[in-house]
Amino acid sequence: MSQPSYRGRFAPSPTGPLHIGSLVSALASWLDARAHRGIWLVRIEDIDGPRTVPGAADDILATLARFGMHADQPPVWQSARIDRYRQALAQLQAAAYVYPCGCTRKEIADSLLHAHARHTTLAYPGTCRHGLHGKPARAWRLRVPDGDAAVIGFDDRWQGAQTQNLATEVGDFVLRRADDQWAYQLAVVVDDADADITHIVRGADLLDSTARQIYLQRCLGVASPSYLHVPVVTNGDGEKLSKQTGATALDVNRPLDALCVAAGHLGLTLDSGADASLERFYAAATAAWAQRFGE
Ligand code: GLU
Repeated sequence: MSQPSYRGRFAPSPTGPLHIGSLVSALASWLDARAHRGIWLVRIEDIDGPRTVPGAADDILATLARFGMHADQPPVWQSARIDRYRQALAQLQAAAYVYPCGCTRKEIADSLLHAHARHTTLAYPGTCRHGLHGKPARAWRLRVPDGDAAVIGFDDRWQGAQTQNLATEVGDFVLRRADDQWAYQLAVVVDDADADITHIVRGADLLDSTARQIYLQRCLGVASPSYLHVPVVTNGDGEKLSKQTGATALDVNRPLDALCVAAGHLGLTLDSGADASLERFYAAATAAWAQRFGE
């Protein structure tokens, strides 16, 4: 019987140029795809209007090419896929998995303050589950299960066994935002399913979103991929590196320097000479990755 073929992806948000943190995610997903002799795709997550920086997507694509990471198919742009998000929401509406929510951020913060004064949970308290109480609909939320069914578990190939209780740790979460934007959680699940992604390799800052995505996959009736979350690169203050926390753009004239730093962050020990050319670097890094994470 033939195995399902490997399809992986790198899904940057064009909020600025590639930096060492995003390079680590790109490299890890690339190496995993190469180690599995699989397909590697790039998706530009450009639907978060307020965060998208004009020109950043082209800059990221040019940097990936300069660094020798070429996607096996043309990149997918989320902004061209809005109809699919609309269809997915309609499917969830028809099955009554979602409900409209009229709460403002302030109302949610206030009710959490009263309900959970002594607890740390920030789960949405489900105020609009049973109706809008005369308020206008602002967002659409996915109803998460109660009781034992709320506990979602998965085995992360890097981080090991994970569980999250969606009811107590997350609450009913937003798929269509009050500012008329599609939520990342919905878009990422629809896009990965449509692209038949079998393996997701990305930064550990998204570990906390994975249970939500697995639950949403079940609601939409699509397969769940396997997950591997690599440690995030932090700055001196322990914050995830991003443009906001001081990440600088990569020196595109010295790709091997940055790639060797990224491989070091991934704990890969490379043969001497790996820094002689991109070809030798990728051969050594793919072998080191395959040894650690299997082919
Ligand atoms: N666009 C997300 C980011 O740049 C990554 C999404 C994903 O890999 O699932 O943080």
